[in-house]
Amino acid sequence: MAETILVVEDEPSLQETIAYNLEKQNYNVETVADGRAALEAARRLDPDLILLDIMLPGLDGLEVCRILRSEMTTPILMLTARADEIDRVVGLEIGADDYLTKPFSMRELLARVKAQLRRARLLRDEAAVDPDPQEMLTSGDLTINATRREATLNGELLALKPKEYELLLFFAQHRGRMLSREFILERVWGWDYVGASRTVDVHVRWLRQKIEPDPGQPTRIITVRGGGYRFEG
Ligand code: CA
Repeated sequence: MAETILVVEDEPSLQETIAYNLEKQNYNVETVADGRAALEAARRLDPDLILLDIMLPGLDGLEVCRILRSEMTTPILMLTARADEIDRVVGLEIGADDYLTKPFSMRELLARVKAQLRRARLLRDEAAVDPDPQEMLTSGDLTINATRREATLNGELLALKPKEYELLLFFAQHRGRMLSREFILERVWGWDYVGASRTVDVHVRWLRQKIEPDPGQPTRIITVRGGGYRFEG
């Protein structure tokens, strides 16, 4: 069955070009041109992926992303014309899964779309293999509640951004295993291109500040020299 992609873009020619190229790849495409319509369409369609422009009339893309992220786990790929917004977009505040800076090529867009859809399928397959996934994962005084998507340390709720939570859950599910930055990037972010592995390091640093007694001497997320990271229970 064809996957459904919601395209939110107010620039008519770009919206049309994106829709044309996605339809050529046999995706079902629905287009809207403002933030309110995006919320309505996302709730109605439950799409497999959302392409979301930031600069929109009315409700902007950042606000739309923040709202949708609290309601659904659908991959959201942001389109931005401003490089200075990228840190906010991927820097977890918003919870977007990936971004493209305008102007971008259709080839690049399709590659990112495929990567995000593949990641979403992997997550679904894992859930299918293990129909009764562990809802609670504990590691000493750290507890992760996968159903409620939250974690506590010593009984205190941790203020985790969406990607920090996903990274922590991924670590906990692969306890004791050396995980390369590339593997983490592909599974947690759905990114398979080189040069982005610094993203993992930045998020690990943030996560350590929240879950390590002494972030400078980590005992939970261990750096493996020349390799990646290992989560110790
Ligand atoms: Ca726009």
